[in-house]
Amino acid sequence: MTFDKNYGYDLPERQIMINSTFVYSEFPELVKVLEEYESLNEHIAIGFDKKLREILARESLVKIYERAKEEWSAVKDGFNLKIELHNWRDNIHCQLCGQHITKKYFIKNKVNDREL
Ligand SMILES: [Zn+2]
Repeated sequence: MTFDKNYGYDLPERQIMINSTFVYSEFPELVKVLEEYESLNEHIAIGFDKKLREILARESLVKIYERAKEEWSAVKDGFNLKIELHNWRDNIHCQLCGQHITKKYFIKNKVNDREL
C-alpha cells in the first residue's frame, strides 16, 4: 500500500487504532479523523492544523499504531485460536480489511474488551 505524500492509514490500521483505549485517551483528535475519513491523503491532511498533521504523518502514525496493537491479542478457545468457519455464500467480510472471508479469527482488546 502506498500513501499519498506520507499521510494516511490502511483499513486494518484504522480499525485497530479507532478501537484502542490508548489512542482514544492520548489522541482524541486522531480518533475524530479516523471516524470521519475511511482513508486519508495529502489533500485532506493539508486542511488540518500543524499539530494534527504531525500526528497523522506516517512516521508518527506508525508509532501510534504499533503502541495501539499492543492492546490486542488473539482470542483462544481453550488452547486453540477461536475460529468461525463460513460458507462463501454467507458473505462474511473481515472487520479489519473488509475482504470476503470463510475463516473468521477473533482478536480482543486486553484493555477495553472489544472484540474484532
Ligand atoms: Zn482482513
